[in-house]
Amino acid sequence: MARYIGAKCKICRRESEKLFLRGSRCYTDKCAFTRRSYPPGSHGKVGRRKVTSYAIQLREKQKVKAIYGILERQFRKIFYDATKKTGNPGANLLIALERRIDNVVYQLGIASSRTHARQIVKHGHILVNGKKVDIPSYLVKVNQTIKLVDVQKKNPLIKKSLEERDPEKIVDWLKFDVENMTGTIVKLPKREDIALPIQENLIVELYSK
Ligand code: SF4
Repeated sequence: MARYIGAKCKICRRESEKLFLRGSRCYTDKCAFTRRSYPPGSHGKVGRRKVTSYAIQLREKQKVKAIYGILERQFRKIFYDATKKTGNPGANLLIALERRIDNVVYQLGIASSRTHARQIVKHGHILVNGKKVDIPSYLVKVNQTIKLVDVQKKNPLIKKSLEERDPEKIVDWLKFDVENMTGTIVKLPKREDIALPIQENLIVELYSK
């Protein structure tokens, strides 16, 4: 019987690199990429056809959308806003994605994946400076505090995420006080703080056409 691996796992195999979209599963032998690194389908192992530069650019955009779980319309808007700011639009785009509250909840280790983090935010379990924020696209600012509501501290999924989190791996623009379940935005992220395998220049080229 064919084993269900989940739609997002297929993206990793198509990209030929691990994108870490499914939380702790990505670090285990259950990872679909670890088990079979070539793309799905009967031609997956045979090799790829020659791809156009447009296809490469498009795939990079789709990859970033999949990593952050964002739909086209919203992604386009974030990119548009990024071009209005000073500096490299590609870097601005990634920084804006990192500053989303769902990403911050994930980076703090409260959630095991960005999908899980988005659910936590949408259900109103996160307070920013003491006030409920249930919009995953909310962009955090320096010195804000991000707190998990008390009633959710015993949530088994959240507890598991926190147990599995590696305090050494927390990004240096965030600080987390586990006892009080509170994170602080120490500074805004820079492009070099984002360790994901992304070539944002390809996305800029795609949207410049
Ligand atoms: Fe799936 Fe994570 Fe492995 Fe990618 S890295 S194939 S999302 S389990």
